Amino acid sequence: MDNRIYDRIDALTQRLLNGGDMSGEEARWMIRLDDDYLPWLMAGADRLRKTFRGDVVEVCAISNVRSGNCSENCTFCGQSGHYQTAAPKYDYIPAEQLVEQAQRARAWGASDFGVVSKGWGVRTEKERAQLREYFTAMNEHSDIGRCASLGALDKDSAAMLKEMGMENYHHNLETAESHFSNICTTHTYQENIDTIKNAMDAGLRVCAGGILGMGESLDQRVEMAETLRALGVESVPLNFLNPIDGTPMGERTPMAPLEILKTIAVYRYLLPKAEIRIAGGRHFLGDLQSMIFFAGASGVMIGDYLTTKGRQVEDDLNMLKDLKLQVRGDTQQRRSADEASAVA
Ligand code: SF4
Repeated sequence: MDNRIYDRIDALTQRLLNGGDMSGEEARWMIRLDDDYLPWLMAGADRLRKTFRGDVVEVCAISNVRSGNCSENCTFCGQSGHYQTAAPKYDYIPAEQLVEQAQRARAWGASDFGVVSKGWGVRTEKERAQLREYFTAMNEHSDIGRCASLGALDKDSAAMLKEMGMENYHHNLETAESHFSNICTTHTYQENIDTIKNAMDAGLRVCAGGILGMGESLDQRVEMAETLRALGVESVPLNFLNPIDGTPMGERTPMAPLEILKTIAVYRYLLPKAEIRIAGGRHFLGDLQSMIFFAGASGVMIGDYLTTKGRQVEDDLNMLKDLKLQVRGDTQQRRSADEASAVA
């Protein structure tokens, strides 16, 4: 054990608590720390989480409203039409079904509910009409926050979705720019960046992160976080690759639990004030799932994911209770917190 490493982690923590930043170089050092130092790193990340986010976690859920046969070739995705997978294929679900799912998520304590559709943007009248119906129905029958993830957005689409009643837009970078050509070739990284900027410019809250464990290097994990920081993204979902049979990523070995925790901690140091939300692949943590919060996470997606099952919601809610973490279930409270952090 090297005491200088403990001291350096402490100094970085203190700098961030005082309002400073961690450099990319420091993050590249941190992400290479031996697992022996992980408890110390997590203690610092936990302190940052408590200071900047409090003991309140955000919980969200999603619905996969249209699945399969996607035009894009994202190598991790079971819904891509470029690969033979067992992912379901169906057109838009009825608005009534979506509302039932949203109400159920609200009863769990979720503050936000995501309408997620395969595909790359809102391009047809059918898509526009369906989304308008969804957001209108959600608004009429639930006070849950209205999110969506629909692929690329230009400025007009972003403004139109806001006018329809959508509040938050989710759009992952997926990975670092320097790794993106290994992940997708049917659209560009710049389209991801433009989409995030267009959603922000339209006044939408943006949730943008990516998937880790897709063959990227440790430096590229840091690179993605630096890009999110430069974009000013405030809500960062982190997924850990769940290899889907039939996709080019199907044979990949999932990330190990301690590696996942260290990555979450490094993201907390690079994005000390962000909402860091753990989504797909959480089950790879096994018995260490509750440790995500001690590693700096401040939010969690509950229920099922797009094409894979999630953990039992009751188990997740019990976990939060045991940790004495309060769920920010009040959507108005979340909206007010957003407004406050926008002013700060
Ligand atoms: S991640 Fe989205 S855009 Fe890419 S293949 Fe899957 S559904 Fe299509």
